[in-house]
Amino acid sequence: MLSFEEARRLVITQSKSHAGPRPTLALPVSDALGYVLAQEIHADREYPPFHRSTRDGYAVWASEAMPGASLRCVGEIKAGDTVSLPLAAGTCVQIMTGAAVPPGADAVVMIEFTRRTEETVTFDRATQPGQNIVPRGSEARAGDVALSPGLRLGFAELAAAAQVGSVTLQCHKKPRVTILSTGDEIVPITETPGPFHIRNSNSVSLAAQVQLAGGEPVPLGNALDRVDDLSAKIEQGLREDVLVLSGGVSMGKYDLVESVLKGLGAEFFFDAVAIRPGKPAVFGRCRNTLVFGLPGNPVSTMVTFQLFVIPALDILSGAEPRALPQLEATLAEPLKGKSGLTHFLPARLEWRASAPLVRALRWHGSGDISALTGANCFLVLPADRPDIAAGEKVSVLPRTDVL
Ligand code: AMP
Ligand code: MG
Repeated sequence: MLSFEEARRLVITQSKSHAGPRPTLALPVSDALGYVLAQEIHADREYPPFHRSTRDGYAVWASEAMPGASLRCVGEIKAGDTVSLPLAAGTCVQIMTGAAVPPGADAVVMIEFTRRTEETVTFDRATQPGQNIVPRGSEARAGDVALSPGLRLGFAELAAAAQVGSVTLQCHKKPRVTILSTGDEIVPITETPGPFHIRNSNSVSLAAQVQLAGGEPVPLGNALDRVDDLSAKIEQGLREDVLVLSGGVSMGKYDLVESVLKGLGAEFFFDAVAIRPGKPAVFGRCRNTLVFGLPGNPVSTMVTFQLFVIPALDILSGAEPRALPQLEATLAEPLKGKSGLTHFLPARLEWRASAPLVRALRWHGSGDISALTGANCFLVLPADRPDIAAGEKVSVLPRTDVL
Protein backbone atom coordinates (compact mmCIF):
# COMPACT_ATOMS: atom_id res chain seq x y z
CA MET A 1 0.00 0.00 0.00
CA LEU A 2 1.21 3.52 -0.78
CA SER A 3 2.47 5.81 1.97
CA PHE A 4 0.77 9.20 2.10
CA GLU A 5 3.93 10.81 0.70
CA GLU A 6 3.90 8.42 -2.29
CA ALA A 7 0.19 9.05 -2.82
CA ARG A 8 0.77 12.82 -2.79
CA ARG A 9 3.55 12.45 -5.34
CA LEU A 10 1.16 10.55 -7.61
CA VAL A 11 -1.45 13.29 -7.22
CA ILE A 12 1.16 15.88 -8.19
CA THR A 13 2.55 14.06 -11.24
CA GLN A 14 -0.88 13.08 -12.54
CA SER A 15 -2.36 16.54 -11.97
CA LYS A 16 0.58 18.16 -13.76
CA SER A 17 0.27 15.88 -16.76
CA HIS A 18 -3.50 16.42 -16.76
CA ALA A 19 -3.52 20.23 -16.43
CA GLY A 20 -3.40 22.10 -19.74
CA PRO A 21 -2.96 25.86 -20.00
CA ARG A 22 -5.27 27.41 -17.42
CA PRO A 23 -7.85 30.00 -18.53
CA THR A 24 -7.46 33.48 -17.07
CA LEU A 25 -9.69 36.41 -16.12
CA ALA A 26 -9.11 40.07 -15.23
CA LEU A 27 -10.02 40.98 -11.65
CA PRO A 28 -9.99 44.21 -9.65
CA VAL A 29 -7.20 43.92 -7.10
CA SER A 30 -9.74 44.07 -4.27
CA ASP A 31 -11.46 40.91 -5.59
CA ALA A 32 -8.31 38.89 -6.28
CA LEU A 33 -7.59 37.43 -2.83
CA GLY A 34 -6.76 33.72 -3.10
CA TYR A 35 -6.38 33.71 -6.88
CA VAL A 36 -3.12 32.80 -8.62
CA LEU A 37 -1.48 35.56 -10.65
CA ALA A 38 -1.19 34.89 -14.41
CA GLN A 39 0.95 37.90 -15.37
CA GLU A 40 4.15 39.67 -14.39
CA ILE A 41 3.71 42.89 -12.39
CA HIS A 42 6.41 45.56 -12.65
CA ALA A 43 7.41 48.47 -10.45
CA ASP A 44 6.16 51.63 -12.19
CA ARG A 45 8.84 53.84 -10.54
CA GLU A 46 11.51 53.56 -7.91
CA TYR A 47 10.60 52.34 -4.41
CA PRO A 48 10.77 54.20 -2.21
CA PRO A 49 10.26 57.05 -4.69
CA PHE A 50 12.35 59.40 -2.50
CA HIS A 51 14.87 59.04 0.33
CA ARG A 52 12.41 58.14 3.07
CA SER A 53 12.79 58.84 6.76
CA THR A 54 11.90 55.84 8.92
CA ARG A 55 11.71 57.84 12.16
CA ASP A 56 10.36 61.01 13.71
CA GLY A 57 13.40 63.19 14.42
CA TYR A 58 15.87 65.53 12.73
CA ALA A 59 17.46 65.31 9.29
CA VAL A 60 21.16 66.22 9.60
CA TRP A 61 24.59 65.96 8.10
CA ALA A 62 25.85 62.95 10.08
CA SER A 63 29.31 64.49 10.51
CA GLU A 64 27.76 67.48 12.31
CA ALA A 65 25.39 65.67 14.67
CA MET A 66 27.93 64.52 17.24
CA PRO A 67 27.44 64.03 21.01
CA GLY A 68 27.04 67.45 22.61
CA ALA A 69 26.87 69.33 19.27
CA SER A 70 24.01 71.75 18.57
CA LEU A 71 22.46 72.63 15.21
CA ARG A 72 19.97 75.35 14.30
CA CYS A 73 16.56 73.90 13.37
CA VAL A 74 15.32 75.66 10.21
CA GLY A 75 11.89 74.09 9.67
CA GLU A 76 9.95 70.87 9.43
CA ILE A 77 9.07 68.30 6.77
CA LYS A 78 6.04 66.07 7.14
CA ALA A 79 4.97 63.07 5.03
CA GLY A 80 3.72 64.27 1.65
CA ASP A 81 5.62 67.60 1.70
CA THR A 82 7.53 68.56 -1.44
CA VAL A 83 11.24 68.72 -0.71
CA SER A 84 13.72 70.56 -2.95
CA LEU A 85 15.97 72.90 -0.90
CA PRO A 86 19.20 71.29 0.27
CA LEU A 87 20.00 71.21 3.97
CA ALA A 88 22.61 73.91 4.68
CA ALA A 89 25.70 73.29 6.83
CA GLY A 90 25.19 73.98 10.52
CA THR A 91 21.44 73.38 10.36
CA CYS A 92 18.96 70.56 10.82
CA VAL A 93 15.30 70.17 9.96
CA GLN A 94 12.59 68.39 11.94
CA ILE A 95 11.29 65.41 9.96
CA MET A 96 8.42 62.94 10.38
CA THR A 97 8.26 59.22 9.61
CA GLY A 98 7.56 58.66 5.91
CA ALA A 99 8.68 62.15 4.86
CA ALA A 100 11.31 62.86 2.20
CA VAL A 101 14.81 63.59 3.45
CA PRO A 102 16.12 66.88 1.97
CA PRO A 103 19.12 66.84 -0.42
CA GLY A 104 22.41 67.00 1.47
CA ALA A 105 21.10 65.40 4.66
CA ASP A 106 22.51 61.89 5.09
CA ALA A 107 21.00 60.78 8.41
CA VAL A 108 17.94 61.10 10.60
CA VAL A 109 18.39 61.25 14.38
CA MET A 110 15.49 59.93 16.45
CA ILE A 111 13.79 62.63 18.47
CA GLU A 112 14.35 60.53 21.61
CA PHE A 113 18.12 61.12 21.36
CA THR A 114 17.95 64.93 21.10
CA ARG A 115 17.15 67.93 23.28
CA ARG A 116 15.38 70.90 21.83
CA THR A 117 15.39 74.55 22.80
CA GLU A 118 13.38 77.00 20.74
CA GLU A 119 15.96 77.41 17.95
CA THR A 120 18.50 74.66 18.39
CA VAL A 121 18.72 70.92 18.72
CA THR A 122 21.45 69.25 20.79
CA PHE A 123 22.48 65.65 20.07
CA ASP A 124 23.19 62.96 22.68
CA ARG A 125 24.84 60.29 20.54
CA ALA A 126 27.13 59.82 17.57
CA THR A 127 25.34 59.70 14.21
CA GLN A 128 26.12 57.23 11.43
CA PRO A 129 25.69 58.24 7.77
CA GLY A 130 22.56 56.61 6.34
CA GLN A 131 20.88 55.92 9.67
CA ASN A 132 17.07 55.90 9.64
CA ILE A 133 16.90 56.59 5.89
CA VAL A 134 15.69 54.13 3.22
CA PRO A 135 17.38 55.37 0.03
CA ARG A 136 15.33 56.05 -3.08
CA GLY A 137 15.11 52.90 -5.27
CA SER A 138 16.52 50.54 -2.63
CA GLU A 139 13.36 48.38 -2.48
CA ALA A 140 12.79 48.32 -6.25
CA ARG A 141 13.98 50.04 -9.43
CA ALA A 142 11.49 51.17 -12.05
CA GLY A 143 10.69 48.16 -14.26
CA ASP A 144 11.78 45.53 -11.72
CA VAL A 145 9.53 42.48 -11.40
CA ALA A 146 7.30 43.07 -8.36
CA LEU A 147 5.19 39.89 -8.65
CA SER A 148 5.68 36.81 -10.84
CA PRO A 149 3.10 34.57 -12.51
CA GLY A 150 2.14 31.53 -10.44
CA LEU A 151 2.13 33.48 -7.18
CA ARG A 152 -0.90 33.01 -4.94
CA LEU A 153 -2.33 36.38 -3.98
CA GLY A 154 -2.51 36.95 -0.24
CA PHE A 155 -2.83 40.30 1.52
CA ALA A 156 0.82 41.26 1.06
CA GLU A 157 0.83 40.36 -2.66
CA LEU A 158 -2.33 42.43 -3.19
CA ALA A 159 -0.69 45.37 -1.40
CA ALA A 160 2.42 45.02 -3.59
CA ALA A 161 0.23 45.16 -6.72
CA ALA A 162 -1.74 48.11 -5.37
CA GLN A 163 1.47 49.97 -4.46
CA VAL A 164 2.70 49.92 -8.08
CA GLY A 165 -0.70 50.96 -9.45
CA SER A 166 -1.81 47.56 -10.84
CA VAL A 167 -5.52 47.96 -10.16
CA THR A 168 -6.59 45.08 -12.43
CA LEU A 169 -4.85 41.72 -12.23
CA GLN A 170 -4.84 38.93 -14.78
CA CYS A 171 -5.47 35.79 -12.69
CA HIS A 172 -6.07 32.10 -13.37
CA LYS A 173 -9.67 31.02 -13.12
CA LYS A 174 -10.28 28.94 -10.01
CA PRO A 175 -10.74 25.23 -10.68
CA ARG A 176 -14.37 24.21 -10.31
CA VAL A 177 -14.85 21.34 -7.90
CA THR A 178 -18.07 19.35 -7.76
CA ILE A 179 -18.89 18.03 -4.32
CA LEU A 180 -21.02 14.91 -4.23
CA SER A 181 -21.75 13.04 -1.01
CA THR A 182 -23.08 9.49 -1.12
CA GLY A 183 -25.10 7.33 1.23
CA ASP A 184 -28.70 6.23 1.79
CA GLU A 185 -28.46 7.57 5.36
CA ILE A 186 -27.51 11.12 4.37
CA VAL A 187 -30.12 13.92 4.51
CA PRO A 188 -29.79 17.62 3.61
CA ILE A 189 -28.84 19.81 6.59
CA THR A 190 -32.08 21.76 6.18
CA GLU A 191 -34.19 18.67 6.88
CA THR A 192 -35.01 16.98 10.16
CA PRO A 193 -33.20 13.64 10.14
CA GLY A 194 -34.99 10.43 10.99
CA PRO A 195 -33.61 8.48 13.96
CA PHE A 196 -31.08 6.63 11.76
CA HIS A 197 -30.25 9.43 9.36
CA ILE A 198 -27.12 11.60 9.32
CA ARG A 199 -27.03 15.23 8.22
CA ASN A 200 -24.79 15.97 5.25
CA SER A 201 -21.98 17.74 7.08
CA ASN A 202 -19.34 16.53 4.63
CA SER A 203 -20.71 18.70 1.85
CA VAL A 204 -20.30 21.71 4.16
CA SER A 205 -16.75 20.91 5.28
CA LEU A 206 -15.69 19.99 1.74
CA ALA A 207 -17.03 23.25 0.30
CA ALA A 208 -15.10 25.17 2.98
CA GLN A 209 -11.92 23.20 2.29
CA VAL A 210 -12.29 23.78 -1.47
CA GLN A 211 -12.67 27.52 -0.91
CA LEU A 212 -9.70 27.71 1.45
CA ALA A 213 -7.62 25.81 -1.10
CA GLY A 214 -8.46 28.29 -3.87
CA GLY A 215 -11.12 26.29 -5.72
CA GLU A 216 -14.74 27.06 -6.52
CA PRO A 217 -17.13 24.57 -4.92
CA VAL A 218 -20.02 23.32 -7.04
CA PRO A 219 -22.46 21.51 -4.71
CA LEU A 220 -24.22 18.50 -6.19
CA GLY A 221 -26.03 17.18 -3.12
CA ASN A 222 -26.14 13.51 -2.26
CA ALA A 223 -26.38 10.29 -4.28
CA LEU A 224 -28.07 7.18 -2.93
CA ASP A 225 -26.06 3.96 -2.72
CA ARG A 226 -27.59 2.79 -6.01
CA VAL A 227 -25.84 2.39 -9.36
CA ASP A 228 -28.41 4.42 -11.31
CA ASP A 229 -28.45 7.44 -8.99
CA LEU A 230 -24.67 7.38 -8.48
CA SER A 231 -23.98 7.12 -12.24
CA ALA A 232 -26.31 9.97 -13.10
CA LYS A 233 -24.85 12.31 -10.46
CA ILE A 234 -21.24 11.35 -11.15
CA GLU A 235 -21.85 12.10 -14.85
CA GLN A 236 -23.02 15.58 -13.85
CA GLY A 237 -19.89 16.01 -11.74
CA LEU A 238 -17.68 15.08 -14.67
CA ARG A 239 -18.54 18.39 -16.33
CA GLU A 240 -16.17 20.25 -14.00
CA ASP A 241 -12.39 20.23 -13.42
CA VAL A 242 -12.45 18.08 -10.28
CA LEU A 243 -15.03 15.78 -8.70
CA VAL A 244 -14.79 15.10 -4.97
CA LEU A 245 -17.00 12.33 -3.62
CA SER A 246 -17.47 11.43 0.01
CA GLY A 247 -18.40 7.94 1.16
CA GLY A 248 -18.93 4.69 -0.69
CA VAL A 249 -15.27 3.74 -1.18
CA SER A 250 -14.86 1.10 1.54
CA MET A 251 -15.36 -2.67 1.20
CA GLY A 252 -19.08 -2.78 2.06
CA LYS A 253 -21.69 -4.30 -0.22
CA TYR A 254 -23.13 -0.80 -0.87
CA ASP A 255 -19.81 0.98 -1.42
CA LEU A 256 -20.32 1.41 -5.15
CA VAL A 257 -18.35 4.55 -6.02
CA GLU A 258 -15.31 2.83 -7.51
CA SER A 259 -17.28 0.34 -9.61
CA VAL A 260 -19.61 3.05 -10.93
CA LEU A 261 -16.62 5.23 -11.82
CA LYS A 262 -15.00 2.26 -13.57
CA GLY A 263 -18.20 1.75 -15.55
CA LEU A 264 -17.96 5.37 -16.69
CA GLY A 265 -14.41 4.80 -17.95
CA ALA A 266 -12.30 5.99 -15.00
CA GLU A 267 -8.66 5.03 -14.58
CA PHE A 268 -7.35 4.88 -11.01
CA PHE A 269 -3.93 6.00 -9.77
CA PHE A 270 -4.50 4.68 -6.25
CA ASP A 271 -7.37 3.23 -4.26
CA ALA A 272 -5.84 2.85 -0.80
CA VAL A 273 -3.23 4.69 1.26
CA ALA A 274 -1.48 3.46 4.42
CA ILE A 275 -3.07 6.05 6.72
CA ARG A 276 -5.67 6.19 9.45
CA PRO A 277 -8.14 7.75 9.16
CA GLY A 278 -8.62 7.72 5.40
CA LYS A 279 -7.21 4.38 4.20
CA PRO A 280 -9.74 3.70 1.38
CA ALA A 281 -9.10 7.06 -0.38
CA VAL A 282 -9.31 6.83 -4.18
CA PHE A 283 -7.73 9.04 -6.83
CA GLY A 284 -8.23 8.72 -10.57
CA ARG A 285 -9.28 10.41 -13.74
CA CYS A 286 -12.53 10.02 -15.60
CA ARG A 287 -12.93 11.64 -19.01
CA ASN A 288 -11.46 15.11 -18.52
CA THR A 289 -11.96 15.34 -14.76
CA LEU A 290 -9.73 14.45 -11.81
CA VAL A 291 -11.74 12.37 -9.35
CA PHE A 292 -11.20 11.91 -5.62
CA GLY A 293 -13.27 9.34 -3.74
CA LEU A 294 -12.81 10.20 -0.06
CA PRO A 295 -14.06 7.94 2.73
CA GLY A 296 -17.27 9.25 4.28
CA ASN A 297 -16.42 9.38 7.96
CA PRO A 298 -16.10 13.12 8.48
CA VAL A 299 -12.59 13.21 9.93
CA SER A 300 -11.38 10.84 7.17
CA THR A 301 -12.92 13.12 4.59
CA MET A 302 -11.19 16.18 6.06
CA VAL A 303 -7.77 14.55 6.46
CA THR A 304 -7.72 13.02 2.98
CA PHE A 305 -8.80 16.33 1.44
CA GLN A 306 -5.89 18.12 3.15
CA LEU A 307 -3.39 15.48 2.09
CA PHE A 308 -4.45 14.72 -1.48
CA VAL A 309 -6.92 17.21 -2.96
CA ILE A 310 -5.06 20.44 -2.10
CA PRO A 311 -1.99 19.74 -4.30
CA ALA A 312 -4.27 18.97 -7.27
CA LEU A 313 -6.18 22.23 -6.75
CA ASP A 314 -2.90 24.16 -6.54
CA ILE A 315 -1.79 22.78 -9.89
CA LEU A 316 -5.17 23.39 -11.55
CA SER A 317 -5.08 26.95 -10.13
CA GLY A 318 -1.84 27.70 -12.01
CA ALA A 319 0.42 27.47 -8.93
CA GLU A 320 3.09 25.04 -7.79
CA PRO A 321 1.70 22.51 -5.28
CA ARG A 322 2.37 23.77 -1.77
CA ALA A 323 4.35 21.52 0.54
CA LEU A 324 2.59 19.95 3.50
CA PRO A 325 3.13 22.46 6.32
CA GLN A 326 4.59 19.90 8.73
CA LEU A 327 6.19 21.19 11.94
CA GLU A 328 8.15 19.52 14.70
CA ALA A 329 6.76 19.70 18.23
CA THR A 330 7.44 18.14 21.61
CA LEU A 331 4.96 15.50 22.69
CA ALA A 332 3.30 16.44 26.00
CA GLU A 333 1.91 13.01 26.91
CA PRO A 334 2.93 9.48 25.83
CA LEU A 335 1.15 7.93 22.85
CA LYS A 336 0.34 4.37 21.87
CA GLY A 337 -0.66 3.57 18.30
CA LYS A 338 -0.80 0.63 15.93
CA SER A 339 2.04 0.06 13.52
CA GLY A 340 1.63 -0.26 9.75
CA LEU A 341 -0.37 2.91 9.15
CA THR A 342 0.52 6.58 9.56
CA HIS A 343 -1.99 8.06 12.00
CA PHE A 344 -3.34 11.60 11.88
CA LEU A 345 -4.71 12.35 15.34
CA PRO A 346 -6.67 15.47 16.32
CA ALA A 347 -4.32 17.43 18.55
CA ARG A 348 -3.68 20.76 20.15
CA LEU A 349 -0.49 22.71 19.58
CA GLU A 350 0.60 25.28 22.17
CA TRP A 351 3.47 27.71 21.91
CA ARG A 352 5.47 27.54 25.14
CA ALA A 353 8.64 29.63 25.44
CA SER A 354 10.87 28.05 22.79
CA ALA A 355 9.51 24.84 21.28
CA PRO A 356 5.85 24.14 20.48
CA LEU A 357 4.19 21.48 22.62
CA VAL A 358 1.56 19.11 21.23
CA ARG A 359 -1.09 17.03 22.96
CA ALA A 360 -3.37 14.48 21.28
CA LEU A 361 -7.06 15.03 22.08
CA ARG A 362 -9.46 12.38 23.30
CA TRP A 363 -11.60 11.23 20.40
CA HIS A 364 -13.88 8.41 19.32
CA GLY A 365 -12.46 7.74 15.88
CA SER A 366 -13.04 9.13 12.45
CA GLY A 367 -16.73 9.88 12.95
CA ASP A 368 -16.00 12.26 15.83
CA ILE A 369 -16.32 15.73 14.34
CA SER A 370 -16.59 17.39 17.73
CA ALA A 371 -13.08 16.24 18.72
CA LEU A 372 -11.77 18.21 15.78
CA THR A 373 -13.40 21.48 16.77
CA GLY A 374 -10.93 21.78 19.64
CA ALA A 375 -7.97 20.71 17.49
CA ASN A 376 -5.63 23.12 15.76
CA CYS A 377 -3.47 20.42 14.19
CA PHE A 378 -3.11 16.73 13.41
CA LEU A 379 -0.40 14.83 15.19
CA VAL A 380 1.36 12.62 12.64
CA LEU A 381 2.26 9.23 14.12
CA PRO A 382 4.63 7.45 11.73
CA ALA A 383 3.77 3.89 10.64
CA ASP A 384 7.05 2.52 12.04
CA ARG A 385 6.90 4.31 15.40
CA PRO A 386 3.63 3.45 17.13
CA ASP A 387 4.73 4.18 20.73
CA ILE A 388 6.20 7.55 21.58
CA ALA A 389 7.25 8.77 25.02
CA ALA A 390 6.45 12.20 26.44
CA GLY A 391 9.17 14.74 25.63
CA GLU A 392 10.03 13.20 22.25
CA LYS A 393 9.82 15.16 19.04
CA VAL A 394 6.87 14.46 16.74
CA SER A 395 5.62 15.85 13.48
CA VAL A 396 2.38 17.85 13.36
CA LEU A 397 0.26 19.09 10.50
CA PRO A 398 -1.29 22.43 11.49
CA ARG A 399 -4.86 23.26 10.61
CA THR A 400 -4.03 26.38 8.68
CA ASP A 401 -7.68 27.46 8.65
CA VAL A 402 -7.72 28.13 12.41
CA LEU A 403 -4.08 28.77 13.29
P1 AMP B 1 -18.89 5.42 4.13
O1 AMP B 1 -17.51 5.90 3.82
O2 AMP B 1 -19.84 5.63 3.00
O3 AMP B 1 -18.86 4.00 4.60
O4 AMP B 1 -19.42 6.31 5.33
C1 AMP B 1 -18.96 6.10 6.62
C2 AMP B 1 -19.77 6.87 7.63
O5 AMP B 1 -19.48 8.26 7.47
C3 AMP B 1 -21.25 6.78 7.47
O6 AMP B 1 -21.75 5.74 8.20
C4 AMP B 1 -21.75 8.10 8.03
O7 AMP B 1 -21.93 8.00 9.42
C5 AMP B 1 -20.63 9.02 7.76
N1 AMP B 1 -20.92 9.86 6.58
C6 AMP B 1 -20.90 9.46 5.29
N2 AMP B 1 -21.21 10.48 4.48
C7 AMP B 1 -21.41 11.55 5.27
C8 AMP B 1 -21.75 12.90 5.02
N3 AMP B 1 -21.97 13.34 3.79
N4 AMP B 1 -21.88 13.74 6.08
C9 AMP B 1 -21.67 13.29 7.33
N5 AMP B 1 -21.33 12.03 7.63
C10 AMP B 1 -21.21 11.15 6.62
MG1 MG C 1 -21.72 5.05 2.66
